[in-house]
Amino acid sequence: MSDFDEQDAFEGASLSARAMAARPAPYLEGLNPAQRAAVEALDGPVLMLAGAGTGKTRALTARIAHLLATGRARADEVLAVTFTNKAAREMKERVGTLMGRSIEGMPWLGTFHAICVKLLRRHAELAGLKSGFTILDRDDQIRLMKQVISAAGVDEKRWPARALAALIDGWKNRAWTPEAVPAAEAGAFDGKGPALYAAYQQRLRDLNAVDFGDLLLHVVGILQAHPDVLEQYRRRFKYILVDEYQDTNVAQYLWLRLLAGGHHNICCVGDDDQSIYGWRGAEVGNILKFEKDFPGAHVVRLEQNYRSTPHILAAAGAVIAGNEGRLGKALWTDAQDGEKVRLIGHWDGEEEARWIGEEIEAMQRGTRGMRPFSLDEMAILVRASHQMRAFEDRFLTIGLPYRVIGGPRFYERMEIRDAMAYFRLVVSPSDDLAFERIVNTPKRGLGDKAQQKIQVSARTHGVPLLEGARRLLAEGGLSGKGAKELSKLVDGLDRWGRMAGAGDVAHEELAGIILDESGYTGMWQADKTPEAPGRLENLKELVKALEGFENLSGFLEHVSLIMDNESGEGEPKVSIMTLHAAKGLEFPAVFLPGWEDGLFPSQRSMDETGLKGLEEERRLAYVGITRAEEVCTISFAGNRRVFGQWQSQMPSRFVDELPPEHVDVLTPPGLYGGGGAPEEDAGSGLHDRAARADVYNSPGWRRLQERGGRRPMAQAREAHAPVIDAAASSAHTVGERVFHQKFGYGAVTGIEGDKLEIAFEKAGTKKVVARFVTGADDVPF
Ligand code: ATP
Ligand code: MG
Repeated sequence: MSDFDEQDAFEGASLSARAMAARPAPYLEGLNPAQRAAVEALDGPVLMLAGAGTGKTRALTARIAHLLATGRARADEVLAVTFTNKAAREMKERVGTLMGRSIEGMPWLGTFHAICVKLLRRHAELAGLKSGFTILDRDDQIRLMKQVISAAGVDEKRWPARALAALIDGWKNRAWTPEAVPAAEAGAFDGKGPALYAAYQQRLRDLNAVDFGDLLLHVVGILQAHPDVLEQYRRRFKYILVDEYQDTNVAQYLWLRLLAGGHHNICCVGDDDQSIYGWRGAEVGNILKFEKDFPGAHVVRLEQNYRSTPHILAAAGAVIAGNEGRLGKALWTDAQDGEKVRLIGHWDGEEEARWIGEEIEAMQRGTRGMRPFSLDEMAILVRASHQMRAFEDRFLTIGLPYRVIGGPRFYERMEIRDAMAYFRLVVSPSDDLAFERIVNTPKRGLGDKAQQKIQVSARTHGVPLLEGARRLLAEGGLSGKGAKELSKLVDGLDRWGRMAGAGDVAHEELAGIILDESGYTGMWQADKTPEAPGRLENLKELVKALEGFENLSGFLEHVSLIMDNESGEGEPKVSIMTLHAAKGLEFPAVFLPGWEDGLFPSQRSMDETGLKGLEEERRLAYVGITRAEEVCTISFAGNRRVFGQWQSQMPSRFVDELPPEHVDVLTPPGLYGGGGAPEEDAGSGLHDRAARADVYNSPGWRRLQERGGRRPMAQAREAHAPVIDAAASSAHTVGERVFHQKFGYGAVTGIEGDKLEIAFEKAGTKKVVARFVTGADDVPF
C-alpha cells in the first residue's frame, strides 16, 4: 500500500518532521519555477534581480517561511531587512499567513535603522556610549551643530548648521568616520568639515546621544573593530534577506557584507530600474556587483509580472527604456489587456485636483465602464509633497476620505504650522499658543529667559502673551537685540492686524507680506539644507491655497476642519503619498498627477546632478506607473500659480515617452462644446492631444476666453513660448499697473524689448524681465 510505504520512508524522522512533510507547503503554492528556485536555494548567496511586480518580495517572504518551516533557522536567527516599518509589519503578517500560524518573534525583521538601534543598545559601550543613549531628531541635531560651529569660530552665516548636517549625513552614508573623510571631500567649511565632524561626534558622545546616521556607522565600526562580536552575530544570523537592495547606501552595504562574510547565506532582491534614493547616498552599484562580492551566487531572474495589465507594463517599459546603462529586463504578463494608460491635460493644478476627485468618485460608483473600485484601492502618487495640498483641500471640500502616507499631511508640516501661527495671531492677538510658536522663529534673540519675562508680564497684568510682551517693552523690562526685535514683531502684528481689518490688500497678498516682513520667508531662503527649497515651495503653496477663501479667518477655519478630518479610522480612504513612499506598494488604480517638466522631472534634481538626476527621475516614473494593477491615470496641467503669478508649464518629457498605442487620451463628455477648440493638427505628440482634449474646454479656459483670453496652449507650444509669458511680454503698456513676484505692485514706465522699467510702490524703480510680470488686474481668475 502506497500510504504505508510513504509512512515507512519517514521511519526514524521526528514526529513533527513527519507531520510537516505530510502537509503540502502552502508557501510554495502558486510560485513559478524561478521563484521557487529562489525560495528553495537556501544555502549560499542568492540574488533576485528583477523588474517591478515580478514577485521578488513575495518570494523573499516565502523564503522566510521556508527557512522556518524546514527548521533551518529559528525565527530569531533570520535577519530580514525591509525598507519601511510598514513593509516589515506586512512581511511578518504574510509569513504568518503562509505558514498558517502566527509568527512568534522575528525580532530581526525590520528596517536597517530599527535593527541597528537594537544592536547598538546591546554594545553601546564599544562605541563609547551607554545603552540608554538618546536618538536625536533633526532639530536637536541642528541645534548641536550650531553649538559646534560657533565653538569653532566658524561664521554660521556663511556656513549654516543645516549645510553641515547635510555634509556629515553624506559622510555617514558612506561610512566615513571623521578620520576617514578623504582630503578631496573636505573642501566645504574652509576645509574644517572633518574637524567640525569630529567635534560634533564628541559632543554626541558627551551627551550620550546619536543621530540617525550614527546608528549604522557605530554598528559597522563595532563589527569592524571587534571580531568576537562580529563572530557572535555571524553565528546568530544564519540567514540574511534584504528587500529593495538597489537602494542601500555604502554603510548599509558594508554592514551586510560583514554579517554575511562567514556563511554567505544572503539573499538580496531588487531592481536596478527602481533605484530612487541616489540623492540620499544609495549606490545602485551595490546590487550590480553582488556576484563579484559573493562569488558563486545563485542568480534568479524573474520576468513574469503578476501585478499590472499589459498596457501598464508596456507604458512603464517604454519610459524606462529612455535610460542608458541599464541591465535591461523583459517583463511579460498573461493578464488580460484591460484599460490603456489614461492621459489627460488640465488647465491648471486646481482643475487637475477637481477632476481627480470627481474621477475617484465615479470609479467608486463604477460608472467608468470599469468595475467599481473601493477608495482603499486608489492612490495618488505625487513627485513633490507640496502637490498634496490641492488634493487635500479638494477632498475635504467634497468630503472624500483620504490618508497621507509616509509623512505629515500638508497642514501638519512645520513650516505650514509656523506660517499659520502668524496668521492666527494676526486674526486673534490673544492666541497664546500661536505666539509661543513664533515669538523666536525666526531667531530674534528671545531665548528662554526673555520668553519667561513675557510670560510673567502677561500673568501679572492678566493679559494674553502678545499684550504681555507689549507691556513688558513699555516698562523697559527687556533690553538689547531681543527688545528691538520683539518690538518689531509686536509692531508688525499690529500693522498686519490693521491691514486685515481694513481689507485694502487681498488677504493672500497680506499673507505674503506677513511671511516676508516677519523674516520667516527669509529664514528659509537663507537655509542651505536640502529640505529648505521644499519648505519654501510649501509656503508658496499655502499662499496659493488662501486664494480660494474670503479672508484669513475663513481660511483658518477651513484648516482647523482639515485637521479634524482624521476621524473615521478603518473606513476606506484614498491614499496620497510621494512616489518615493510608494516603493514596493501596489494599488488597483493609481493617479499620477503633475507630469510637467520642472515638477517631474524635478528641475532641482536635474540642476544638481544633470543626466544622472534625470535618469533617477525616470526611474521614479517607472516606479510610479508600475504601482498600478488595473488603471493608471497620468495627468498634467498647463498652468500653475506660484505666488499669485501664473506660470505656464510644459508637459513632462516623460509624457511623450509613453507609447501612444498603449495610451488613451481622455476626452471627457461634452467637449468641444463651449469654447473654441483648436483645429486638429496631424502628427502632434501625446501631450498636445491630451492638452486639447481637456484644457480648451475647462471652465478655467472658458473663463479666460470670456475675459479676452490668451493664445491656446497648442499654438503657444508651437512657438515654443509659454502661454502666459508670451502674452505678458507683448501685452504691457507704459502706465499699466503690474505685479512682480519679488517687488510687488508698480507702474510700467518704460519698455525695452523683453525688459520693463517699472516704478514699484515699495521697491523703487527697477528694470525687470517682462516674463516675471503680470498685469495687476490680469490674473486669470
Ligand atoms: P516591486 O519591484 O514593485 O517591489 P515585487 O517584485 O516585489 O515588486 P511583489 O510585490 O512580490 O513584486 O508581487 C507583485 C504582485 O504579484 C503581488 O500582488 C503578488 O502577490 C503577486 N505575485 C507574485 N508572484 C506571484 C505568483 N507566482 N502567482 C501569482 N501572483 C503572484
Ligand atoms: Mg517588492
